[in-house]
Amino acid sequence: MLDTLNRAQAHGLAALPPVAADSLLALIAMCNADTRPEKIDVGVGVYRDAAGGTPIPRAVKAAEKLLWERQETKAYLGGRGDARFATLLRPFVLGRHADDGRIDQLQTPGGCGALRLGFQLAKLANPQAQVLLGDPTWPNHPPMAGGVGLALSNYPYYDRDNRRIRFDEMIAALRAGRPGDVALLHGCCHNPTGADLSDDQWAQVTQVVVEHGLLPFVDLAYQGLGRGLEQDAAGLHGLLDVCDEVLVAQSCDKNFGSYRDRVGALFIKTGSRETTATAMAHFLQMSREMWSMPPDHGGAVVRIVLDDPALRADWLVELDAMRARINQVRATIAAADPRLAFIGEQFGMFSMLPLSRAQVVALRDDHAIYMADSGRFNVVGMSDEALPRFIAAVVATLDA
Ligand code: PLP
Repeated sequence: MLDTLNRAQAHGLAALPPVAADSLLALIAMCNADTRPEKIDVGVGVYRDAAGGTPIPRAVKAAEKLLWERQETKAYLGGRGDARFATLLRPFVLGRHADDGRIDQLQTPGGCGALRLGFQLAKLANPQAQVLLGDPTWPNHPPMAGGVGLALSNYPYYDRDNRRIRFDEMIAALRAGRPGDVALLHGCCHNPTGADLSDDQWAQVTQVVVEHGLLPFVDLAYQGLGRGLEQDAAGLHGLLDVCDEVLVAQSCDKNFGSYRDRVGALFIKTGSRETTATAMAHFLQMSREMWSMPPDHGGAVVRIVLDDPALRADWLVELDAMRARINQVRATIAAADPRLAFIGEQFGMFSMLPLSRAQVVALRDDHAIYMADSGRFNVVGMSDEALPRFIAAVVATLDA
């Protein structure tokens, strides 16, 4: 009697615990349900242009066409994914370290895949390691690091009310880390605060990492959207100057506008080519257990862009335009009110407004402006047309 073996409740599925509501998903649902035509969604984490759209870059569109014309097979590529795609990223990600034979890389499903795989290797190498995470950090970091079974610990990062990096406390907390602990660092465009370390602060963090034997894991998800491709990786390059062991989770999803195509890569540097080869073999085994191999389309498109001088040049023009728009919107908001001046000194798509939860709710109820309870907002989440209204509403709410 086969049917009796698969009764409802027989396998525990009906007793699965409920999942705690995700506040960001709840925010999206609330915004979708809002019928006010003037609503502004600055909760979502995608770049929007002056017209309020999230366009596919011209170079990406052109490369997709070339891929369609040229691709002759969709046979499996293997666990490393598109090896040339990841190799072409080396000059951008590694800069002057691009020729270091102790560094290797593989394609991953987005920056998230790279983070997960990196944490998993860290756990295998040192099960006692803690992951030191900034407070605040991107809300996906704790579950990804904790999900592999690593212990988590916070280092103070940003004082939202006084709009400054808690640098001395950050350094003290990193110093308190044990040798072998993983220090997760945002390469640039800190999400959620927009507050990036200065060159001098990077140098001090690098020194602590070296002196205390921490394993730096750099999350580089917004390269090119802060100060420029080279400068956005300058902190990482400084780490590579002096550290034998470094992990880098890279994402092309923002700088190539490829969000849903899941384009990323994981880089590893160790003290020797042999150790790097062993680590890579573990990555391949681990990724095989999770996703087998990364999706091809997005990586192939980025490869075509980077391999074609004209497309590459056009991508760089568009990347510059995205960065210019982010910085121009930042300057406009900063100029509107002295209390918002700090936004002009920060980088990337996010900043945190010093608003109470009640003020965030008031913005939603009274002005149809949606942002996270923390006051984190997407600086380029609205069109140019909506920007003056956004600024006026924030200033009115700060005044209230
Ligand atoms: N790291 C940070 C800080 C991010 O904000 C994001 C995406 O929002 C990622 C990593 C992951 O990007 P991806 O969409 O490529 O997985």
